[in-house]
Amino acid sequence: MNYRYIREAAYEANMQLPKLGLVLFTFGNVSEADRDKGVFAIKPSGVPYEQLSPEKMVIVDFDGNKVEGSLNPSSDTLTHAVLYKHWEEIGGIVHTHSTYATAWAQSQRDIPIFGTTHADYNTVDIPCAPPMSDEMIQGNYEYETGFQIINCFKERGLDYKEVEMILVGNHAPFTWGKNATKAVHNSAVLEQIAKMAFLTEQINPNAPRLKDALIKKHYERKHGPDSYYGQPDYH
Ligand SMILES: [Zn+2]
Repeated sequence: MNYRYIREAAYEANMQLPKLGLVLFTFGNVSEADRDKGVFAIKPSGVPYEQLSPEKMVIVDFDGNKVEGSLNPSSDTLTHAVLYKHWEEIGGIVHTHSTYATAWAQSQRDIPIFGTTHADYNTVDIPCAPPMSDEMIQGNYEYETGFQIINCFKERGLDYKEVEMILVGNHAPFTWGKNATKAVHNSAVLEQIAKMAFLTEQINPNAPRLKDALIKKHYERKHGPDSYYGQPDYH
């Protein structure tokens, strides 16, 4: 089997989505890239999770051309391709319509940083890109979705290596990471942060954002040069 490593990695990561309760039916897709070969493996379109296998993953290049596979790749493939092409240090991407994160996307709101769970992963609110323009929607929609994400990060001065998640307004979340496993982890974390933020606003509509000292403390505990969370060399 060609591209065995990324086929298996993409397969395993895709299979995590239903297990984590992040997808319904055939919703959602994960990909894993091989930077040396300039390709990624992605879920085929419309195939139920229980029928997936590493062999059924589709190999696509960073321009969205199919390189190997008998099935059609996920309908969101071009969004993955654009992100891999422009953000050279990511190795895995996930797209789901997980309930709470999607509800924030539909509300066109950033997820405010309310607590330390959020601060362990991000020092900023989770960005919600604006809904796409009519021209982008009527053009090459999935391709333009990738640019909507990249443009939002540019406009806000965000670094994709620092913030590994976004909501696309009126649509749903995308997450990424150094590989597909990390990107799936980020999707599950995002869903949990989205749920907690929703509940926080229900209990107290005027809940304040997390104070700076706690944001800094929690993020640096896990990510700073003096991080001390977990075990040495075991991230
Ligand atoms: Zn979608």
